[in-house]
Amino acid sequence: MGRIRSERRRASEPTGQSSAGHELRSSGRAHCQAIERRMSYTLTTPLYYVNDRAHLGSTYTTLACDAIARYQRLCGERVTFITGCDEHGQKIQRTAEAAGLTPQDHCDRVSEGYRELWRRWQISNNRFIRTTAPRHRELVEQFFARVEASGDVLEGRQQGWYCVACEEFKDDPHEAQDPECPIHRKPLEWRDEVNLFFRLSRFQSQIEELIRRPGFIAPASRQKEVENFVAQGLRDFSISRVDLPWGIPVPGHPGHTFYVWFDALLGYLSALLQSDPTAAAGSVDGEEGPVDLDQVLQRGWPAQLHVIGKDILRFHAVYWPAMLLSAGLPLPERGFGHGFLTRFGHGFLTREGQKMGKSLGNVLDPEVLLKRCGRDAVRWYLLRDIPFGEDGDFQQQRFSDLVNNDLANTIGNLLNRTSTMARKWFAEAVPPAGDAATSSHALAQAGSQAVEQFRQSMNRLEFRPAAEAILQLAIAANGYLNERAPWSAMKQPGQEEQVGQDLYAVLEASRLAAVLLAPLLPDLSGRMLEQLGLQPFESSKPSPQTGGWLDALSWGGLEAGQTLPQPQPVMQRLELNGPL
Ligand SMILES: [Zn+2]
Repeated sequence: MGRIRSERRRASEPTGQSSAGHELRSSGRAHCQAIERRMSYTLTTPLYYVNDRAHLGSTYTTLACDAIARYQRLCGERVTFITGCDEHGQKIQRTAEAAGLTPQDHCDRVSEGYRELWRRWQISNNRFIRTTAPRHRELVEQFFARVEASGDVLEGRQQGWYCVACEEFKDDPHEAQDPECPIHRKPLEWRDEVNLFFRLSRFQSQIEELIRRPGFIAPASRQKEVENFVAQGLRDFSISRVDLPWGIPVPGHPGHTFYVWFDALLGYLSALLQSDPTAAAGSVDGEEGPVDLDQVLQRGWPAQLHVIGKDILRFHAVYWPAMLLSAGLPLPERGFGHGFLTRFGHGFLTREGQKMGKSLGNVLDPEVLLKRCGRDAVRWYLLRDIPFGEDGDFQQQRFSDLVNNDLANTIGNLLNRTSTMARKWFAEAVPPAGDAATSSHALAQAGSQAVEQFRQSMNRLEFRPAAEAILQLAIAANGYLNERAPWSAMKQPGQEEQVGQDLYAVLEASRLAAVLLAPLLPDLSGRMLEQLGLQPFESSKPSPQTGGWLDALSWGGLEAGQTLPQPQPVMQRLELNGPL
């Protein structure tokens, strides 16, 4: 952060612990909020900065959040899944000017690009916030008024080296010669202006305590980074800019607009006050209503999860909680079970071992990926192969190998050939189950292990072991099928009943795999269930109660005599000629 040199004055007198005052205001609703909160799950992607189109990193983050949102809905939670665009700041103004557009036209185009891309990926977000929305501006004004009333807005002089691309003051010493941004490799700009500051220093001990809390920042390596930063001592940070028209004006401070980060983080709150297009009309979430900061408590705040890239961890793990404390909004310690705001810094993606960049000409375009490979293939590769939270590397050969081996062969072909045999020998229907429907069957045990590992992993946001659990179940079922060899048993007299039971067990394992796939690969899950004569799960809209998904995790759900439709390959092999 830049340094504050001159004398500062308080913009208003402090009111002490503003959270206490807020508690009084909202205590009347506390009971019913508590009940609602227990059943709601709010998660967010970052609000993507509209200086450029979506890239693989933002697509990955959004797909991961989508899998979590679908999983929580299938488990019966009322999910608020927020994404959107961060549209203010100098970088946007300059990008628009360079393209010969007004900033608003530029933002309209880029944010519509995001919205359209997420639609095509079938992302199940039920909020999309743009920080240029008039309602967002209203909320920012209300939030600022609270922070100012808490005595946390100060005036001061900001001097330091600034990266416009990061929209951040860097720690470089004042006397540095031509310093550059370590992320963008571009020269930093010297700034010297009178700004409004947020009194972050006041929250030192609270933030220290918060970030030490297990699970608040995951993975643990990121937690350490933040601890080291906080240990240096928190310095007040500037929350306004002068002579920057492309921003929200600061009420009562002519000439100042809000620093883009102060405004952008509040997008998570204003998103909650939008109406939910998937909610029933007349319900709380189905209506927009007036902009009232207090209402966020009834609309899903505090969030359970912010998923972010590691480069913006400091903003989310330090500045954001301090801002919320100042405004008297709840933090994770008030809650049931695990923390309300678990923050998660995931890593960066590279390609074939190299950083992706325009200058290197190796950028992987999510549009191209979608068109050439389809949703299932990409979701599987990213969720199954890249440990969430660590840096990942996109390798094309490995991508197509995994998709073909895991999805087309191990999972898809298993269902296809078993269904073909069952139709041929058992009147185009699921054979009688006999002992195969009982929990002591070998595949039933493999199934319950898979369910347990899957659910534990998903609850910990560990997609890789979750996907592996499904794969292991399919591998066990393939092994069982080859060992029992129904194709030769069927040629021997008196074996029909046993063959029927064996086929039942493998079909049931396939059903279970399809059920478990629902949050990760909803399309493939749906095609598999249809091939078994069953209904796909709806995981993009709130479903009444559990929608039956949890019940469907029990062994023996497939009904003998259920008609099996003509088998179609559920997963096409990926044949990639040439680089993506
Ligand atoms: Zn930078």
